[in-house]
Amino acid sequence: MIFFDAVSKVYPDGTVAVDNLSLNAPNGKLTVLVGPSGCGKTTSMRMINRLIAPSSGTISLDGVDTQSMNAVQLRRKIGYVIQNAGLFPHRTIVDNVAALPRLLGGSRKQTRMHAMELLEHVGLDSSFASRYPWQLSGGQQQRVGVARALATDPPYLLMDEPFSAVDPIVRAQLQDEFLRLQADISKTIVLVTHDVDEALKLGDQVAVLRTGGTLAQVASPADLLAHPTDAFVADFVGSARGYRALGFVNTDDSIPVTPEQTVTLGQHTSTIGRTPSRWILAVNAVNQPVGWVDVELIAGDIISASDLNLSGTVTSAAGSVRDLLNSALASPSSRAVMIDSAGALRGTVTLHDIVSAIGQAKEARPNS
Ligand code: ADP
Ligand code: MG
Repeated sequence: MIFFDAVSKVYPDGTVAVDNLSLNAPNGKLTVLVGPSGCGKTTSMRMINRLIAPSSGTISLDGVDTQSMNAVQLRRKIGYVIQNAGLFPHRTIVDNVAALPRLLGGSRKQTRMHAMELLEHVGLDSSFASRYPWQLSGGQQQRVGVARALATDPPYLLMDEPFSAVDPIVRAQLQDEFLRLQADISKTIVLVTHDVDEALKLGDQVAVLRTGGTLAQVASPADLLAHPTDAFVADFVGSARGYRALGFVNTDDSIPVTPEQTVTLGQHTSTIGRTPSRWILAVNAVNQPVGWVDVELIAGDIISASDLNLSGTVTSAAGSVRDLLNSALASPSSRAVMIDSAGALRGTVTLHDIVSAIGQAKEARPNS
C-alpha cells in the first residue's frame, strides 16, 4: 500500500504543485492519477520514489515512512516507467532490460536469460533482443520500458504517461496487454495520465486531481461516472459519461440472444431461402462471423467476399453492454453479433432489445 498523508509540494518559485494530498493506493491494485496538464500528477508520483522531496506530509510504503528509508533501497522496490520509455540508446534491448539486475550483482548469463523471459512477457520475441532502441517502434520501446521496470521484480510500479506517445490503435493494444500482464503479476501500481478514457479503462480506482494539485475525487471508474462529486469532475469525465458507464455493466441473461440464420462464402444464392430481413450474416467454416450480406444486392450466383459489408463489430458474451450496443450501432442490420470465447457465433441481439434492457436496468437502479 502506498499512502499519501497530507502531502504538499511547493516549488522554490512558489508554485503549489500538490496541495494537501491524502490518498491510498491499495496493494495489488492499479490506482490512476488523472487530471489536466500541470495539476501535479508527475510531482505526486516522483515524490513516491523521492526524486522530489515533499514540502510537508508523509508518504509511506506498507506503513514505512519513505523518508526513513535509504533512497537507493527504496527505488529498488519501485519500478518506474516513463513516457518514451527512456531507454539507454547505446545498449541493446536485452541489455537495457538486464541493466539494473546486472548492476545489483546478477551474473551476465542469468540476468540476460531473465531479460529474455521478460521481453516475451511483454509481447516481444527474441529477435528484438539484439536490436537497439532506435530500431524499434514507439510501442515496442514502451514494452521494453515495462520489461525493464519489472526486471528486479519490484512490488511497486510507477508509470508516468506510459502509453501517451503512441498512436491510438497501438495505445489500445498496449493497454489491453498491460491489463492482462497485471492480472498475472498483481503489482501495486500508480499510473499517471491526462487521458480520462485511459484512466477509466485501466484503473481499479481513479483519483481526479484539479489544477493547483488538490484531489477532487477518488473512486472506482463506475462510481466516478455515476456519481461525480462536483461540476469539475462531471465535466472532466465528460459529456459521454452515460455511454462510458455502460462499459462497466456486463452483458447478462436479461438480454435475449436470438439464433441467427447464416450463409457461408461460396454458397449458391439459390440455397439461401427466405430471410427475415435483407441483411444476413456470413460465417466461415468454423462458424465465426465474417461480415453482413445484403441479400438484395448480391452480385453473382455465389456469395463472395466482395458481397460482404464489413462495418459491423462483434462482441463477446462476456463483454460489456457498451460493446454490445456498439456492435448493434455499427451493424447495417442493427443487430449486435455475439460470439463465444472461441470466436464462434452465439447469436444476435437487436438494437431495440439492448436499449430496452438498458432502460429496465436503469429503472431498477435509479441512482446509477
Ligand atoms: P502534471 O504532471 O500534472 O502535468 P507537474 O507535476 O509536472 O504536472 O507540475 C505541476 C505544477 O508544478 C505545474 O504548474 C508545473 O509548471 C510546476 N512545476 C513542475 N516542476 C517544477 C519545478 N521544478 N519548478 C517549478 N515549478 C514546477
Ligand atoms: Mg506530467
